[in-house]
Order: sequence, then structure tokens, then C-alpha cells
Amino acid sequence: MKIFVVKKLTLYIFLVFLILLFTFLLFILFPDKLYIDTNSYISINEEDLLKTLNDTDITYLQDEIDSLYSSDKKIAYLTFDDGPTKKATSKILNILAEEDVSASFFVIGEYVNHHPELVKRAFDEGHYIANHTYHHSNSKLYKSPTDFVNEIKNTDMEISKAIGIPNYSSHLFRFPNGYMSSIYKKEKKWATSLLSDMNYLFVDWNCLNRDSEKVYSPADLLKNLKSSAKDKGSLVILMHDTCDLSDTPSALKDSIIYLKSQGYEFHNFYDFFNQYLLK
Ligand SMILES: [Zn+2]
Repeated sequence: MKIFVVKKLTLYIFLVFLILLFTFLLFILFPDKLYIDTNSYISINEEDLLKTLNDTDITYLQDEIDSLYSSDKKIAYLTFDDGPTKKATSKILNILAEEDVSASFFVIGEYVNHHPELVKRAFDEGHYIANHTYHHSNSKLYKSPTDFVNEIKNTDMEISKAIGIPNYSSHLFRFPNGYMSSIYKKEKKWATSLLSDMNYLFVDWNCLNRDSEKVYSPADLLKNLKSSAKDKGSLVILMHDTCDLSDTPSALKDSIIYLKSQGYEFHNFYDFFNQYLLK
């Protein structure tokens, strides 16, 4: 009887040892499978999500994007337009890394061609790279439907080369001056249907620090942001990573600290798409 109890105990110890060994091996062999990223809804790498977007009819998501502007949820989408530039983009990436915040960059194709390394860095650090035309010139963009499509496709091609992912499509576009602006209204109508043919969404903003007005000090930019964010839930914040406007990099850290103090969580558009595509 005593021998039987000892044997049983040994068997239990052996089983526990096997389970521990198995778990340990799983962590060693498949660390990425077991890692749970608490900052995103589901842990998935950007490349997998982009592949999912390629295969999904995402046009139904436009209503969801439009509803961001009036959502009660305290989520901030930092967006940077018109880069990459040597003067601003690295500084912005450094601050985002220090504050552990992810953002979205709406890049211009010809600048990606000049500074692919900045786009690669932004992508590698988990930021969303979206499309903001090749030349940022309305006269070129709306010259014809073919020109419009080429402005987007050529920008995607530059991003693709920069980040080393073949056939990259960001599926997310921002009109120069915004869809909401009163210029080129007629052209924007046909442009939106072309976007939808390309499985593309577009996004404007509902908050800004007015850095494109070129007259503000960093302290003013923060003040502008606070007043623009007032009484809003979700924020899609327009800023720029260019060298010829007001100095957003110098206002960015304090802006992030302010938004954190107001209870905001920071998402980029990977987080946005994750919610809908990967449930
Ligand atoms: Zn722009």
C-alpha cells in the first residue's frame, strides 16, 4: 500500500514536471504566438493585417470612420500629414517612442521617394502609413480620374519600396485640404467612388492644433489643441511633420501629456481596423 502511494506521488510530480516543461518549450519556440499586446485588441503583426485588408471589402467601414468624429470614447488618433521630412519626422518619432504612443502618418509619395528610411522607421515602430497623394497638388490630382488613381497608386508603390512589402496598399487616404473643404467639390464626388473601387477609405479630422497657419509658437499650438479638443470624445487630430509650418515637434510631448491627463488612449488605424476585421 505504502509503495503504491509513493509511486502515485512520483507519477503526479512527473506529470507536473512534464506540463511545466511543455509550457516552457512553447514560450521558447513560439514567443510571438503567446504574447498578448495589451495596447491592441488582438495581437497581430502589421503585415498580416495589411494582407487581411487586401482580401476584404472594406467599403462598409466608411460609416464607422465617419462616426469617429462624434464618438464618446476617449480615444485619440494622432495623424501627421505631408511628410516625411528630415527636419520634423525623426523628432516626432522620437517623442512618440518616449511616450509609448502610436500614430498614423499620411505621407506624400515624392517625399517618400526622397526619404524612404524615415517611412521605414515609422512603419517598423508600429505606426500606420497612409496615403496623401504623390504631389499634394490639387491641379494634378483632379486633372482626370486616371491622374487621381495614379497619384494614389504611385504613392503606394513608393511606400512599398520603402518598407519592403510588395504591393502595399494602406487602404486609407486623406484628401489634400480635407474632404470637408469647399474646394474641388465636384471632383471629390467621382474621386470617392474611385477610392471605393480601389478598396480605399478616407478620413478627415475633428481636432487640430492649426500648425499649418505658420504663426503659432509651441505654447500656442498646445492652446489651440486644447480648445479644439474641448467637449469632444474621440479625436482625430490633424498635425503635420513638415519643416515649413509651425513647430509641432516642440509642442508634441506636452500635447500628448495633456491628452493622457484627460484620460485619452492613443490608437492608430491598425487598432481601428483590428476592431472590425479580426473579431
Ligand atoms: Zn496635406
